[in-house]
Amino acid sequence: MDAFAKVQPYLVERPRPLIGAETVQLIVMREILDYTVLRTEETRELNVVHTPLSAKNSSEPVRRVAFLATKQKAAESRELEHLLRTARRAVGLPEQECYLKDNLCMRCPRCGLFGGTSVVPGQEERANIKHRIEYSTAFSLMPFEDIATRLTFNAINDRNLTTGQALGDRHAVLPATLFPSVVTLKSVTQRELILTIKTLLACKSYGAESRIGGDVRNSIWGMVAGWEEVITSLELTLELFDEMENLSPAKVLEIIAQKYVPLAGNPDKVVVLTLEEVDALVTACASTELDRPFIEEAYKDIEKYRSEQLAR
Ligand SMILES: [Zn+2]
Repeated sequence: MDAFAKVQPYLVERPRPLIGAETVQLIVMREILDYTVLRTEETRELNVVHTPLSAKNSSEPVRRVAFLATKQKAAESRELEHLLRTARRAVGLPEQECYLKDNLCMRCPRCGLFGGTSVVPGQEERANIKHRIEYSTAFSLMPFEDIATRLTFNAINDRNLTTGQALGDRHAVLPATLFPSVVTLKSVTQRELILTIKTLLACKSYGAESRIGGDVRNSIWGMVAGWEEVITSLELTLELFDEMENLSPAKVLEIIAQKYVPLAGNPDKVVVLTLEEVDALVTACASTELDRPFIEEAYKDIEKYRSEQLAR
């Protein structure tokens, strides 16, 4: 059977400037594989937020480390950029310059999916591309106290350290820390779904200071499609904390089907893929060859999108 059959109704034939409700959510387990600093450049502190302990125990607040949406998006957008550049070279297509932050080409699959702002004077308004991949902040499955550690990274940080400061810039999360996460695709094509899954599987480097770790492995634990977003990263984290003894992709699918589908605005339009269907789809995406026809069609899609958008 076609691995894409079940999500097909939630994909589009080609990307268009006016998007519809077709939504595919990828449930991604992000596992930290090395000491990783997850902080903002400005404050030089580990990003920590207060959340309820779990879905069942919502009155007890705990501190969790936040893996900001912007950090996930930046790393994955770059990964896709690198992938496209290498794939074009490999199939003998001319190089197309597109890089963050001020030289987006606005005509490649990365710009088509992640969106972009035109730098052509006078064209800013109508020439922007709206993103169709959505990220939300992911929260550590375990509370801050269980997964954060203090490390000395270099002499400069030593000099800057202020005594009495509770959260210095030398806090890092420990290897094996889990961040349940949801990546949402809106009105994307099958080719864009393939590129997204390849990117998620390939992307390993995150964090504020990648020279000191920041290694992450993403696994696709589940997939749910519908006419809306069915579950958020925070909900997923709080639910999974209650299932710590029984953490598995099967559990995730069960929670979504039993608790979150009934909460949807259009429950009859929601499908939760089975474990076998998720595995088959992920395998199909990973094993899709980025050959010349695939790459050419993916670029042509965005060309058409742009000519349609700029003609309006
Ligand atoms: Zn581009």
